[in-house]
Amino acid sequence: MSDLTDLYQAVILDHNKRPRNRGKLPQATRVASGDNPTCGDNCTVYLQMDGDRIGKIGFDGSGCAISQASASLMTTQLAGKTLSEAQSEFGEFRDIVTTGKEPEEFSEVAAFAGVHAFPARIKCATLSWHAAIEALKKPDSPVEE
Ligand code: ZN
Repeated sequence: MSDLTDLYQAVILDHNKRPRNRGKLPQATRVASGDNPTCGDNCTVYLQMDGDRIGKIGFDGSGCAISQASASLMTTQLAGKTLSEAQSEFGEFRDIVTTGKEPEEFSEVAAFAGVHAFPARIKCATLSWHAAIEALKKPDSPVEE
């Protein structure tokens, strides 16, 4: 069990140190932001659509390690997804962070199960996911510079 805990901690550290898909997407057609004033986190998610799927996804923002690692992981989970697929991925992630219930198979999202013990941090973990779903629900439009 402690090996698994170490492994999950390593997942969060790794996403924090080498964030995936970080940075504004110049060709983004949908964008949404969120912030979490109690912790000082903010996150903007950029989407470039491919039909009704996410073609490219990027994020920008600053905040605590949980919020940044979660945003990085979120981009890897939601790339290529439709709105309904993304909503179901988010539902699973939210279950994990609010209940601490880990899926039976190893999955990077399960690294965030430990967050459930710190209810104030749940918003840190879900901030970027909320922004991504909000962006997905918007119509396509050119994003202002
Ligand atoms: Zn935070």
